[in-house]
Amino acid sequence: MNTARFTMSVDDGHPLDLQMADLLERHRIRATFYVPITNDEGLPVLAPAAMRELAQGFELGSHTRSHRFLTTLSAADAWRQISEGKQMLEDCLGSAVCGFCYPGGHYRRIHRLQVRSAGFAYARTTQNLRTDTGHHPFMMPTSAQFYPHTRTVFLRNFLSQCAWPSRAVALRVALAEPDWLRRLHRLLDLAIAQHGVFHLWCHSVDIERLQLWAALDGFLQRVARNFAPAERLCNADLLSPARQPAAVAGDAAANPAPARPEPSCRHLSTPSENSETSDRPAAHDPAATPDDQARHQPES
Ligand SMILES: [Zn+2]
Repeated sequence: MNTARFTMSVDDGHPLDLQMADLLERHRIRATFYVPITNDEGLPVLAPAAMRELAQGFELGSHTRSHRFLTTLSAADAWRQISEGKQMLEDCLGSAVCGFCYPGGHYRRIHRLQVRSAGFAYARTTQNLRTDTGHHPFMMPTSAQFYPHTRTVFLRNFLSQCAWPSRAVALRVALAEPDWLRRLHRLLDLAIAQHGVFHLWCHSVDIERLQLWAALDGFLQRVARNFAPAERLCNADLLSPARQPAAVAGDAAANPAPARPEPSCRHLSTPSENSETSDRPAAHDPAATPDDQARHQPES
């Protein structure tokens, strides 16, 4: 049995996330939506009632209070963005929020510590080309963004971020395919062949702006054909002990995923101080060149 797992995340809490949710529900694909309370970049954000509606079927994670890049803020302001974003989202939803996503993929060690201190259980980055869950709960990697990036963007992301041994095979696959959509399919094939994890992420507003809904629909159809419902996870499920590979094989046959699964936060506990170890330089993470940043300066 193939124990490959699929997870998806959608960033920024744009009102088009409701359209994204409809698409994901049609394919019975779970996901995590990372939402700020407001967006200082000027983009609209889901109204509180819409956030609560979304939370009925998906995990909601925090994306700071107002979508501020943490590395541009003082430590005190970064803390306010992180802690107030969590508190306000929890007040809106009436339930705990355990997942966090760094806006723009920009963070330093202090921000990882702040995110942990605020009570989050994990944080997602924009590191791509990974087909595993990573080695640090506050540096959750991804596989690829659903965006027509050039191969140069993949190469730049590879070079500017770490964990090169874990990403070298995926980089070769990415560089070998000139067409961006076929490249994503090849990377999906790789994750399946490795019995690994494919973590897709995107912005709903990009899908609309670039008219990629049909392409995304086709990609998700392929996901649904290749991953059993029990292997289509929200981000928090990746870190749940019950969802680790040894348990997945047994769970898959016995527990097909419900159409509207329960949030997974209760399975996770806030990691201890000892877990705050890094496979990056401690004082300053090298400036990422994340795909989220590329969204603002898309390459043709
Ligand atoms: Zn964002």
